[in-house]
Amino acid sequence: MSRVAYVNGRYVPYAKAAVHVEDRGFQFADGVYEVIAVNQGRLVDSSGHLQRLERSLAELRIGMPMTRAALLVVLQETIRRNRVRNGLVYLQVTRGAARREFAFPADTAPTVVAIARAVDMGKAAANAAKGVAAITRPDIRWGRCDIKSVGLLSAALAKQAAKEAGAYEAWLVDRDGKVTEGSSSNAWIVTRDNVLVTRGLSRAILGGITRSAVLELARREGLRIEERAFTVAEALDAREAFVTSTTSFVMPIVSLDGKPIGNGGPGLLAGKLRALYEAYMTGHGAGRPEWEAPFLAPPEAQAR
Ligand code: PMP
Repeated sequence: MSRVAYVNGRYVPYAKAAVHVEDRGFQFADGVYEVIAVNQGRLVDSSGHLQRLERSLAELRIGMPMTRAALLVVLQETIRRNRVRNGLVYLQVTRGAARREFAFPADTAPTVVAIARAVDMGKAAANAAKGVAAITRPDIRWGRCDIKSVGLLSAALAKQAAKEAGAYEAWLVDRDGKVTEGSSSNAWIVTRDNVLVTRGLSRAILGGITRSAVLELARREGLRIEERAFTVAEALDAREAFVTSTTSFVMPIVSLDGKPIGNGGPGLLAGKLRALYEAYMTGHGAGRPEWEAPFLAPPEAQAR
């Protein structure tokens, strides 16, 4: 099957899809992106993702390249043309191509790229059934992790370290010894007295769309929830740990830096939340209360 990519208004063969060498995404990582899950041919939580995209762009003073509704059409068409039933669609928007200079160019049209790919759901389910390992790494990222920037070098370094250690994810640790989030996921623990803990929104983490859906599902279940930072020691002492993301849904973490968490197997609550999230996803995120931009930190939490 031939793959196609959307590039600046055209659907082009994957092998020929390209942006300019002076694109500011390439030169300066001057752009943002979104990854949206495709479930049975439909986008999951598209309104939350497009809202977050708009916010990320606004923070960088890049104009929306088109309306959210038009972007949605581009994403749906990219999925359709690539015949993706279950998988992911990536949308990337940069400030555009301009003669190399750090300050913003005047009147440059943003670059817009979308690609879609299928995901092996069997492999993901097998990982979730066994649980996966995580390692810790220092969080060496910049001060605006709430923006979904394409500047992903530190995430790539952390993920590579995880891979070399035979682990699935790297949990990033701030200077106070507290976990910020995973390299491409939000980090959660379940304490010994069954409290669900995940770091609160601030500039130190990306407000995950999956994080906010899982929080909502947990609330509906009447679970006890604390949005606060936790230490590595607390994670090692926890009953359970897991990560949430568009690509992993809810993924149990069964060891951290080689030390088992809980009984060393996937936790009950993680399993339950994964099942609830899968059901939610099959409904494509419908039934969700109005989006209140949950990835926006309240002003008092904006600073690290
Ligand atoms: N944190 C980081 C740093 C990420 O890259 C991601 C995935 N893009 C997440 C959290 C999870 O966000 P979401 O649930 O919206 O995929």
